[in-house]
Amino acid sequence: MSWQTVVGLEIHAQMATRSKMFCSCRRETGLDPNHNICPVCTGWPGALPVINEAAVRCAIRAAICLDCTIQRESRFDRKNYFYPDLPKGYQISQFYRPYALGGAISFEREDATADRLPLVRIHMEEDAGKSIHASDGTSRIDLNRCSSPLLEIVTEPLGMSGIEAASCVRSLRHLLRWVGVSDGDMEKGNLRCDVNVSVRPDASAELGTRTELKNLNSFVSIQRSVEVESKRQIEVLEKGGTIRQETRLWDQDLEVTEEMRSKEDSPDYRYFPEPDLPVIVIEQQDIDRERQSLPELPAERYRELVDDLGLDPKEALPILARRENCEFFAALLEAGLSATSASNWFRGEVLRHLNDRSERIDQYPLAAEAIAVVVKAVEEDRISVGKGREILQQALDEQRDPNEILSESGEQISDESALVGWITTVLSENPEAVNKIKSGDSKPMGFLMGQVMKASSGQAHPRLAQDLLQKMIEQD
Ligand SMILES: [Zn+2]
Repeated sequence: MSWQTVVGLEIHAQMATRSKMFCSCRRETGLDPNHNICPVCTGWPGALPVINEAAVRCAIRAAICLDCTIQRESRFDRKNYFYPDLPKGYQISQFYRPYALGGAISFEREDATADRLPLVRIHMEEDAGKSIHASDGTSRIDLNRCSSPLLEIVTEPLGMSGIEAASCVRSLRHLLRWVGVSDGDMEKGNLRCDVNVSVRPDASAELGTRTELKNLNSFVSIQRSVEVESKRQIEVLEKGGTIRQETRLWDQDLEVTEEMRSKEDSPDYRYFPEPDLPVIVIEQQDIDRERQSLPELPAERYRELVDDLGLDPKEALPILARRENCEFFAALLEAGLSATSASNWFRGEVLRHLNDRSERIDQYPLAAEAIAVVVKAVEEDRISVGKGREILQQALDEQRDPNEILSESGEQISDESALVGWITTVLSENPEAVNKIKSGDSKPMGFLMGQVMKASSGQAHPRLAQDLLQKMIEQD
């Protein structure tokens, strides 16, 4: 019998607001523990929460770009449970009346076709603190994260593979980052994902019993846990067993899922409406205002890059990876580069620099205009491609303006008598290499070219020098 894996996702995305959901503490990571707290987010008796308007606006933007239906009225509830990192004893969340229903995440199937994973809802809530378990057996509590604004995005179940489930989350993260709703750094925990997995016989229309997988903190974990868990369920069913509805933990080192708790011992949260917060009313004009503030979405930019500018889809993807990349690319065009050369230099040099320096484009010290000046010098044959790359690298290493290095470095020398001079010296110093080439082994050509470039302090026009070198060896 063949089986289909069905996956549903619950994604928690921390919203990129300046302050927390219900108080004015900064929403920041990397601070000393318990330095970013106040009576409201640590639940002192009598402290009153206030809704952060910026978080609601952020949530509206998320709902717009995921095609959700935004509810005019929504409301917060208390989800009661005890945990050391939740000093209030309850989490404020939208349980009964979420602010957004429906919508979908566009994603790519393994066969490269486009599909949509439907959403059930999105709601706003606050985060809890963090328990830190040290290797000496002690546990500590850091409440900095308490009351950080979260979106919980809940999808419908859909038949898909582990790779496709990861692709959905990747696509969602891309979109949320693009519109500035969330930083989406899984390693920092500001994008977290639980996955529901079930299997059913291929022909069946009915859903199987699902298990919920927790502790997925990377795309690889999402992909592998779905694959491993669906295989486990199929094995149980094929042996005549049944699947229990339960929560399971993913162990990424052992690549197994382990039972955490069954449905019977799942907690009863005793939800009830939060009495200290008003009903949220989102009017059409609020939605319109956020819609107008949205940047062009990735799909539109993709069409521009591929259809209007004629880039290959493969070239367009790294440019589209972040909105800031797109803006930098646009600045290269603005500075007078053609789409092809902007794309080549952006992907070949800028992205490589960012990778080497573990930076994001908004931290990159070189301006698009300065890069364009160097690229134009290459295109006008004033310097070689290699020299152009070298100048950019030097500018980064020495924190200097590339134009300054460009004007110091002198232009490419095409003057034939100068080239002949360097080549003659190199040939006379390397008779063995010359003999090898004459006997049909062209390997030493690269070495000789290197020597010519060295002799000219990198200023010889490479193509002219290469042609001349060839000719002079033949005539020698
Ligand atoms: Zn606070």
